[in-house]
Amino acid sequence: MDEIRIDNLKIFAHHGVFEHENINGQNFFVNAVLYTDTEKAGTFDELECSVDYSSVCKLIYQIMTQNTFKLIEKAAQKTALEILKNFSLLKSVDIEIRKPEAPIEMQFESVSVKIHREWHTAIIALGSNIGNSRKYIENAVEQIENSEYIKDVKVSDLILTKPYGYTEQDDFLNGALICNTVLSPNGLLDLMHSIENRANRIREIHWGPRTLDLDLIFYDDAVIDTPDLTVPHIDMHNRAFVLQPVHQIAPYYRHPVLNLTVSQILERLKQHD
Ligand code: ATP
Ligand code: CA
Ligand code: CA
Repeated sequence: MDEIRIDNLKIFAHHGVFEHENINGQNFFVNAVLYTDTEKAGTFDELECSVDYSSVCKLIYQIMTQNTFKLIEKAAQKTALEILKNFSLLKSVDIEIRKPEAPIEMQFESVSVKIHREWHTAIIALGSNIGNSRKYIENAVEQIENSEYIKDVKVSDLILTKPYGYTEQDDFLNGALICNTVLSPNGLLDLMHSIENRANRIREIHWGPRTLDLDLIFYDDAVIDTPDLTVPHIDMHNRAFVLQPVHQIAPYYRHPVLNLTVSQILERLKQHD
């Protein structure tokens, strides 16, 4: 990917853990690397085809001066996020913040934090079979749409399905959504759990009745096997109630382990039924 770089943008601001830093302020230096395809700008020589670096500098200045954060980690993350949200041609960004006047009683050049943030694609399955299921799912979608870490949410139709595994329970309402997120897989799972908890989700019987179930189906083409998280979802290829809604919003999404598209996996499942 091509890069546009901003080096050592000098900004006087008030971030710091100590009160005197918040009152007196000090100089910060910001480096930004903007990852974008510059081919169109290189061909047509028009600013509209590229990212206007002077606007990016103004945005960085605004975020750095209109907030007082304790940590440069927070300042860097907020800056990265706002740049990604405001400049749609950008896929990812590096932000480095240096603090040469940090309160350290020793000789040093500067301390700094450097982060990388980018838009990832995630597909989340939605399910509910207690109470007003439609409302629980709609509320969950709304919270996902409102998250500052997520954009471009597209939701499937919701379908009524028979329970899976533990069958002595009411029918389910199921759906799926696709979105872009700057969260890591675990960050996204934490957000999904907090939304489930707010829907009074109680974990009793495995596969049992629930007000809201959010499962991470795909995250880019990542393959993750940790105690807390398996991606792609470990059983998605056996579940029509997951595959049908996912097929509606992302038929060509490719399962990175099976190397089949959602459309092909659904077709295969139908044949085996
Ligand atoms: P299933 O995952 O078979 O649909 P379930 O949704 O009923 O079952 P839960 O009780 O909701 O299971 O989740 C149990 C744990 O599974 C979660 O706490 C989470 O840490 C873990 N988990 C692993 N992989 C995923 C994933 N891809 N999406 C959501 N949770 C996952
Ligand atoms: Ca589930
Ligand atoms: Ca779950």
